[in-house]
Amino acid sequence: MAMTEPRLTLHPATAPRRLPPNGKHFFIWTIGCQMNEADSAKVAAMLLEVGYRPTEQEDDADIIVLNSCVVRQAAEDKVSGKLNYLARLKREKPEMPLVLTGCMVTNQQEKLRERFPHVDLFFDPSDFDRLQEVVPELADLEDDLIQLPHYYLPEAAGDASIAAYVPIIYGCNFLCSYCIVPYRRGKETSRPMNDIVREVAELIDKGVRDVTLLGQTVNAYGHDLPEDAGLAELLSAVDGLGGLDRLRFLTSHPKYMSDQIIDAMADLPSVCEHMNLPVQAGDNEVLRRMRRTYTTDLWLDRLAYTRKRMPTATVATDIIVGFPGETDAQFQNTLDLLKEAQCDKVHVAMYSPRPGTLSARWEDDIPHEEKQRRHQAVEKQQEAICTARNANHLGSTLEVLVDSKAKGRWGGRSRGNQLVHFEDDRDLLGQLVDVKITKSSPWYLMGEAIGAPR
Ligand code: SF4
Repeated sequence: MAMTEPRLTLHPATAPRRLPPNGKHFFIWTIGCQMNEADSAKVAAMLLEVGYRPTEQEDDADIIVLNSCVVRQAAEDKVSGKLNYLARLKREKPEMPLVLTGCMVTNQQEKLRERFPHVDLFFDPSDFDRLQEVVPELADLEDDLIQLPHYYLPEAAGDASIAAYVPIIYGCNFLCSYCIVPYRRGKETSRPMNDIVREVAELIDKGVRDVTLLGQTVNAYGHDLPEDAGLAELLSAVDGLGGLDRLRFLTSHPKYMSDQIIDAMADLPSVCEHMNLPVQAGDNEVLRRMRRTYTTDLWLDRLAYTRKRMPTATVATDIIVGFPGETDAQFQNTLDLLKEAQCDKVHVAMYSPRPGTLSARWEDDIPHEEKQRRHQAVEKQQEAICTARNANHLGSTLEVLVDSKAKGRWGGRSRGNQLVHFEDDRDLLGQLVDVKITKSSPWYLMGEAIGAPR
């Protein structure tokens, strides 16, 4: 899953409020993927339920929860830095619980306790009940807490909560050789379809227009459920609710990207024509050592079928450069694959070993400078591809869901997830606006609003 910057973007109205405010405040800091953001939203919903309110100032907090990530070393370093920084505050307010959750915690609690003795509670992702150890009021609501929403309403500029994440499957059954996620998040566990559909219906009632269904392998959804239903059926059920403008899903595995799912994307009005399908490498030998369980041909085949069914679909992918043993020729295969695929967006990361994974036992033999060179080579090639692909939109009209305003310009995303900016005097936050594209760059599009917002 794509990494996001730490932020607190919890909408105070995400959870039903049972108890009146108790004068206490919580501060939640989240780093990592959208799944972490969704877990943080659940923690916020629990604390809201017992009378806490959010604060954006750590100093004002009566409880601090940090939600951690270990997918990359940089993320883990940021969490350690934050914990060390909070040691001062904890000395001043020893009664304030400091809590650490997220992927850093799983199987590491003893070691973490030694490193960060000022932390009061470590709990595994989604093991929300443990929060009762520092917030005893939660124990009285135990049965009801299960009913609290898992969804997440980001707080956009102003007061519009228009987009939400909904986790639908936890964990991962793959064992990619570089990835720590299966060790920290466990086996795939799908949520019952009825619960998910009910939650999305609540979100629609609250005015949400754009929902992203989440999972580490989101398109594996349903194979562990008794009913014979997968992601295609779930998309159909959510679309059938009516009232939702946009439906997306993250992150998909190429092996599970079936014709049925692509057909559902093409046929269901709310499902956006945007495919996010990580390939990670463009060389089959590297993919084999990554234990990705597919070849480049399969990935290209899935792209081809997507484009056959949805000629205007946009495609994003993820790439790791500098995997152990990756030769110049194997890296060149990645560049060649990306040239052939003509993606609209490529997230590229330099390989870094994660302790506990299979590939961490292999020599990390590509020098940092060479990883940087490969990283830049992918970015440079992709910049040229994106320049050309975005220029194709000049003169066309894209539907934009407006979610921000900065420097006098509105910003939002197209159905294909392209960033679009435009100027307009009207208040358009949270509105769908047709924008005629007049300027393009590799990273965003600009245009003029036409017609009435809706
Ligand atoms: S599919 Fe591979 S990369 Fe993705 S979460 Fe599972 S093990 Fe990690």
